Amino acid sequence: MTLTGSCMCGGVHYTADVDKYLSALCHCTDCQKWTGGAFTSNAVVPRTSLKVTKGSPSTYDAVGDSGKINKHFFCPTCGSSLYTELELMPDMTCIKAGGLDNGEANLGGKVDIEFYVKDRPSYLAAVEGAKQESAFGG
Ligand SMILES: [Zn+2]
Ligand SMILES: [Zn+2]
Repeated sequence: MTLTGSCMCGGVHYTADVDKYLSALCHCTDCQKWTGGAFTSNAVVPRTSLKVTKGSPSTYDAVGDSGKINKHFFCPTCGSSLYTELELMPDMTCIKAGGLDNGEANLGGKVDIEFYVKDRPSYLAAVEGAKQESAFGG
């Protein structure tokens, strides 16, 4: 399948050609800060599959709990969160699924795994059927 996505102002567009992807929610406090929301929803795809087709994202390097860099890509004009590349996962890119077009923000209605559930707001329930990880890779 070909995933396509864009930021809120349309200045940045991207595509990713993938057979399938892992769908993951992350509840860590960096994701909360970066998005202003309760969590990020992610389509985790091979890094080589992602191509920026319009515009040029800005980046911000955050240092994760691991001490490794989590590179954040966002639109320099509207600030939309686009995707992250974790030094811990050098072959993968975490597309922020809210930016996906054609209804794919729904992640096919399925969440494979939730990370950092220790930081999940108490008003949110675990997604039924999703693997629960206290932090990342724990
Ligand atoms: Zn934008
Ligand atoms: Zn996170």
